Amino acid sequence: MTAEAIVKPPRRHTPRVHVRWQDADVVMGGGAPVVVQSMTNTPTDDVEATAAQAAELARAGSELVRITVNTPQAARAVPEIRDRLDRQGLHTPLVGDFHYNGHKLLADYPECARALSKYRINPGNVGRGASRDLHFCRMVEIACREDRPVRIGVNWGSLDQELLARMMDENASKGSPLGPGAVLRRALIESALESARRAREVGLGADRIVLSVKVSGVPDLVAIYRELAARCSYCLHLGLTEAGMGVKGIVSSSAALAILLERGIGDTIRVSLTPRPGEPRTEEVLVAQQILQSLELRSFMPEVTSCPGCGRTSSDLFQRLAKSAGEYIRERMPEWRAGCPGVERMRVAVMGCVVNGPGESAHADVGLSLPGAGEAPVAPVFINGERRTSLKGEDLAGQFNRILEEYVQRTFGAAAQQPKQGNNQKEN
Ligand code: SF4
Repeated sequence: MTAEAIVKPPRRHTPRVHVRWQDADVVMGGGAPVVVQSMTNTPTDDVEATAAQAAELARAGSELVRITVNTPQAARAVPEIRDRLDRQGLHTPLVGDFHYNGHKLLADYPECARALSKYRINPGNVGRGASRDLHFCRMVEIACREDRPVRIGVNWGSLDQELLARMMDENASKGSPLGPGAVLRRALIESALESARRAREVGLGADRIVLSVKVSGVPDLVAIYRELAARCSYCLHLGLTEAGMGVKGIVSSSAALAILLERGIGDTIRVSLTPRPGEPRTEEVLVAQQILQSLELRSFMPEVTSCPGCGRTSSDLFQRLAKSAGEYIRERMPEWRAGCPGVERMRVAVMGCVVNGPGESAHADVGLSLPGAGEAPVAPVFINGERRTSLKGEDLAGQFNRILEEYVQRTFGAAAQQPKQGNNQKEN
């Protein structure tokens, strides 16, 4: 089945929010592709560690990188982190994450305010009573002065407790009060929308505002964003907060984000995984990319389809081949991305036996069907749906990777682009 056969709900109509740094211009909303972002977990005052991790996340494909700015030392470090990235040719915009003292840090360290391309403000953590409004407005004023967009990021772990208490009291006085969960969801949404209204009053344009309301339960998150999307036209940042570690974090985030993205809700995503000790922070970027790629919203790298294997596979050969093909593609992608435009849409299939092997392989650009138990010890290779050759012998992985390389160069490489350029010149 082709993607064209599937009718998807239209994306929400929102203003386009630009997040810029030098030649980088990341656009969110207004029909732009959904943006992948991530966040460092290093102390920001450790310039070397934070710059290294931000570079790692950017190279993995994070289009925005958020860093916490929590102390004067961290604020002083931000321009230096920015500079280190620039010197590596990485102009990925940096987003400053502020809680409690952001109004003071942004005012006291103007170079920090300028080195950041966007500010995240948590309206539940800007102060109490009268000072809350004052601090919030001060940060928005600086965003207006520096021409920076702002994410108003509400989180259920730090919801404005005065707002929640007021809404709980109002609810209790009603004839048919809502349950506490429903009131909490409404309070979260109200906090975001009320803060956006205040930011607009201060002078921030709708095209400078992104909203998020993060909770850690999938049904709650879906319900909240559906209502938020219906009640406003601001750009929305999606993310399941504190998603967790490993399979739990990946599956929960994927379930929540897929439901919303499939309904056209969401302009940028972050997957908040807890990394396993020693594992790279970049996993959250790869998971975010894979969510968008699985939904056919964006293409980041060739897809490798492989079967789960069953009693018809006589060894783990096909598992090793599927792994080898995936690793080869990941290793080659930096060079392919630069010299072989369109390669990210290539589809590869590695199948365990004749039952689904030829059929699945025929739907891929390059497919391999391995010999299952009782089959002839050869592995037919399909290219663009036609059986072209058969692999046999010891080094099946090496042979298949060479076929992939030849296919990429022939189909997407410089030679393949030559006639297209010639045609364009004629048309011009
Ligand atoms: S393709 Fe063959 S080996 Fe793979 S799951 Fe299907 S029947 Fe089993």
